Formats: sequence, structure tokens, C-alpha cells
Amino acid sequence: MEKLVAGIHRFRSKITHHQAQELRKLAKGQKPLAMMITCADSRIIPNLIMQTDPGDLFILRNVGNIIPPYGTANNGEAAAIEFAVTGLGVRDIIVCGHTHCGAMKGLLKPELLNDLPTTREWLKHATATQAIMKENYPRMKGERLLTATAEENVLVQLQQLETMPVVAARCMRGNLFLHGWMYAIETGEVFEYDWETGQFTLMKAPGRPDTADGNSASSAKQASGKKSAAARTQRGSSNRLRASRPKRK
Ligand code: ZN
Repeated sequence: MEKLVAGIHRFRSKITHHQAQELRKLAKGQKPLAMMITCADSRIIPNLIMQTDPGDLFILRNVGNIIPPYGTANNGEAAAIEFAVTGLGVRDIIVCGHTHCGAMKGLLKPELLNDLPTTREWLKHATATQAIMKENYPRMKGERLLTATAEENVLVQLQQLETMPVVAARCMRGNLFLHGWMYAIETGEVFEYDWETGQFTLMKAPGRPDTADGNSASSAKQASGKKSAAARTQRGSSNRLRASRPKRK
């Protein structure tokens, strides 16, 4: 705890006049740029990855970046999403998975959850991910399988996000955009799900044209290498993708 308490004091002592003004402004209300839903894993620091400031990101974290489907009892995730969308007017929701995810390991090896009954119960909201992996990736193993599971789970959770009426309605109108991301812990890289190609590709810098091989160094890309296919929308339902998920041998 010492490191944490010392950090609090260091933070306070280093606040500049400008930062103090910004903090006072934030006390009057928030207008975040986006909502981010990601894993509780300590190795993911959204504000570091995106170099954001207080007030920029409305963040929801849990084990496995999971979004229980609409209608689930005591759905705290749904409450946070509803508040972000309806209360704060957020127009972008990012669901971000990551490499080396312990929750995904639990999905692949349920015996790891024998002493974690609450986690096992929670991960039932990712049963679809489990089934997708079992049926479509029978020969993939090790780290590649783990990363592919995290990627598929991002897509499954995006689908579950769309079961929320407020999300579905705003996506349809083009007032809300959904994004699937993967964070590679080992490199700090972020991969974005491309709704057109069905691939996770390295996040391009703003205004930079497409490159043919923007993701060659990525373990996340290696693990996927597939056209995913689930039906999701980034720009509302007008260009909703409804391809079928390819089988992997
Ligand atoms: Zn995780």
C-alpha cells in the first residue's frame, strides 16, 4: 500500500495550475469522449494506453470484459451502459479484450475455476465464446488459442451489448458506434476489429491511410487470422454485417 499512498501525495503535489482548473471544471459535470468496457486485469491502464485525461473516458471493468445480456437480473453493467448512453450522451462504446486474459483461460479450462464458484457463474455470460472456440478452433493451441478466445469474446460481448434496447435503438439511428478492440499486454499495441474484413488489425494513427500489412508483428493478429463474422455494427444497422463465421480446422 505504501506505493499507492505515496502516489496520492505525489499526484497532489505535482498538480499544475492548469490541471487544478481542469479538475474544478470537472466537478461541475462530465462529458466523456467514449465509454470503455474492459477487463479488470491490472496490466491494462486505459488512460495510459490512450493518453487520456480525467473526464475523457467512462470506464467499466470486470472479469473478462463481459456484458451480461439484457434482462439479466441485477445487471450492474447494463446500468453503467444505460447511464453512459442516456445520461451522458456517449456516442462510442469500446469493448476491449486483451492477451493473456485469466478469464479466457478459465473459459478454455473450466477446471481452473473449481475454487472460484462466483467467477465460474459470472463466466456463463461468455458461454457463447466457449462454444465458438470448441466448434471452430479444435486444433488451435496455447497462446494463439488464448488470444483468439479473447478476440471472439470481444465479438460475443458486442453482440450482447446490442441486446440492450437503448444501444440497439441508437446504433440503428447512427447515434452510437460500437468498437471491438484487443490490447496486447506484451507490446502495448491495440488492435481494432475491422467490420468490413472481419479481422482485428493494428490501430492506425488518425488520418493515416490503410497499409497492406499493418499488423504483421502482432501476436493478437497471429492468434486470430480469421474472418470473424458475427453480426455487429459500427455505423448503425445500415451496413450491418451478416456473414457466417468460417470454420477452422
Ligand atoms: Zn482479462
